[in-house]
Amino acid sequence: MAESPLYLDYNATAPLAPGVREVLAPFLGADFHNPSSLSQPAQKVRGAVHEARLAVARLMGAQGPDRITFTSGATESIHAAFHAAACARPDGALVIGAAEHSASKGAAQFWAALGRRIVTVPVDADGRIEVPTLQRILAENGPIALVSLIYANNETGALQPLEGLADCIHGAGALWHLDTVQAPGKVPLACAAWQVDYASISGHKFGAPKGSGALYHAPGAPVPHWQTGGGQEQGRRGGTENVAAIAGLGAAARLAAERVQDPGNAARLAAARDTFETELLHRVPQACVHAGGVPRVGNTSFVGLPGTPAEYLLPLLEQEGVLVSAGSACDASHHAPSPVLLAMGVPEDLASSSLRLSFGPEHGPDEGRRAAEGVAQAWTWMAPPQAAPTGNTVQP
Ligand code: PLP
Repeated sequence: MAESPLYLDYNATAPLAPGVREVLAPFLGADFHNPSSLSQPAQKVRGAVHEARLAVARLMGAQGPDRITFTSGATESIHAAFHAAACARPDGALVIGAAEHSASKGAAQFWAALGRRIVTVPVDADGRIEVPTLQRILAENGPIALVSLIYANNETGALQPLEGLADCIHGAGALWHLDTVQAPGKVPLACAAWQVDYASISGHKFGAPKGSGALYHAPGAPVPHWQTGGGQEQGRRGGTENVAAIAGLGAAARLAAERVQDPGNAARLAAARDTFETELLHRVPQACVHAGGVPRVGNTSFVGLPGTPAEYLLPLLEQEGVLVSAGSACDASHHAPSPVLLAMGVPEDLASSSLRLSFGPEHGPDEGRRAAEGVAQAWTWMAPPQAAPTGNTVQP
């Protein structure tokens, strides 16, 4: 019997985490009541929304549940934060990193449509912002309303160091939004301690249903009211709550928070990825690992395979039963080289010949090995001319 496909695109979306379906199912059935209703059965529904808010607040390291507003996902959360900052600071510019997700770049377009200034901060060769660069850009472009940065890059997994950022950003009089979508279940979140003003998460990245997400907003940060209506979510986001999705988000948040508290989590998560990279570099020494020399979330590997465009490798790998991507799912339909790699200074041909593998919490060295065999075989079939690596290579 053929082996079942090995799904290695968790950064695009993850399956429901264990137990989540059971938690959300009653709200699609007998517990269908409107959480705002005053009836007795509605109390249980309201209670489930509250429990989920507590779980998300814990996951994000918030001061309390009132710091969390439920959304339909990170794209909405990011737009909400940008909207709040645009309204509260009518004169300031928006500053975003050059390696942000298209959700933030898209929200910046809305900012531009308001006739507001947008400034992009260049990233280093690993896709991270350096504090002195940010400091210079803030000083040269003031007044600044909002700075938005990505914490764990969705393509490379590189973690943005946070030391010094709160002082730098707040010192310039700006608000700070952090895109923490790729962090839950992989690394701890500590929004209150980091002193961010806003942070965004998306449920389907860590085992909750698609269409669930949350925005963290700090005490004192301008409160977003981006969707008016029935007064739900304390008037911040009107509209009847998607209770099943919220209950699922809460259940997945509880699991993700437990996972990162386990001291063995980081090593377990990285076991598949590290095996994959070691074996791949052994079989294909020309390959390189983008941002391979800096701290990354443990599940993510973005590898350059010189000479063979990713669009040729992907179908071969799928035939081999290994499902990966060429970068962000949101940019996949364009067949263009990864904007993140280009921002890092990776040459266009290598950026076009790069594959992202993102493992799940249940994967281990066996899956890492199988992925390396599949990628090496697909690359060898294409028989590219020998080429030297140009990324930040990790040697086997
Ligand atoms: N930010 C990052 C880093 C992401 O990876 C994603 C999803 O790919 C988003 C934002 C947008 O999330 P959603 O599509 O769930 O709104």
